Amino acid sequence: MRKSIVAGNWKMNGNLAANAELVTGLLSTRSGSDNVDVLVCPPAVYIPQVAALLQDSNISLGAQNASAFEKGAYTGDLSLSMLAEFGVQYVILGHSERRALFGEDDAQVADKFRAVVAAGVTPIVCIGETLQERQAGQTLDVVSRQLRAVLDVADKATLANAVVAYEPVWAIGTGLTATPEQAQEVHQALRALIAEYDAAAALKVRILYGGSVTADSAAQLFGKPDIDGGLVGGASLKAKDFLAICSAA
Ligand code: 13P
Repeated sequence: MRKSIVAGNWKMNGNLAANAELVTGLLSTRSGSDNVDVLVCPPAVYIPQVAALLQDSNISLGAQNASAFEKGAYTGDLSLSMLAEFGVQYVILGHSERRALFGEDDAQVADKFRAVVAAGVTPIVCIGETLQERQAGQTLDVVSRQLRAVLDVADKATLANAVVAYEPVWAIGTGLTATPEQAQEVHQALRALIAEYDAAAALKVRILYGGSVTADSAAQLFGKPDIDGGLVGGASLKAKDFLAICSAA
């Protein structure tokens, strides 16, 4: 049985006051229930603030990106060891916004995956097709190519601990959620692909859905056999909405 995960990706939102209010709201209302792993991924500059607020709680901390390099002349980048020093346990990799707006490609995502795993941090690898690709019938080809890039460099000992997030680009921030059936079809195919590399790990890897998840759509999505939780953008910025999604997992 896989434990569900719900991750809040705050993207480039928040400020000191709003973060404090949001995290305080999460901590004051979240039940002690331990059947779902919950994490929030604030903008990097707020990681120390949020880490302090989350101390001794049952909510974990993630980063939205990380460098593949250990240290050196990489202006503007943050290394895994820096993030880990502040309590980061998860890193989102290859989000479609990083791929589309910042030119990250499969090879870079694979390099980052290696660095994240080497640091003992859990990668959340994002993959997903554009609307054009879906309409052209290329969904499974695209997501398989994106996932293979990472599976090709994954080592057997740690693969089971990795997290995959299927986020159809056309569903992100648009209010258009994939139907539970559309998402399940892709999740099932992704798990089958992982099984080609390691059948035991495929049963353990958690595959999250992301793209306009709301308190209303969450339960049906998470009810599908291969959907192990969600990566939530907009709805993670309101404590009540995010907690309702966590309760649905
Ligand atoms: P929304 O939930 O705002 O559509 O964002 C999804 C996402 O990109 C999470 O990483």
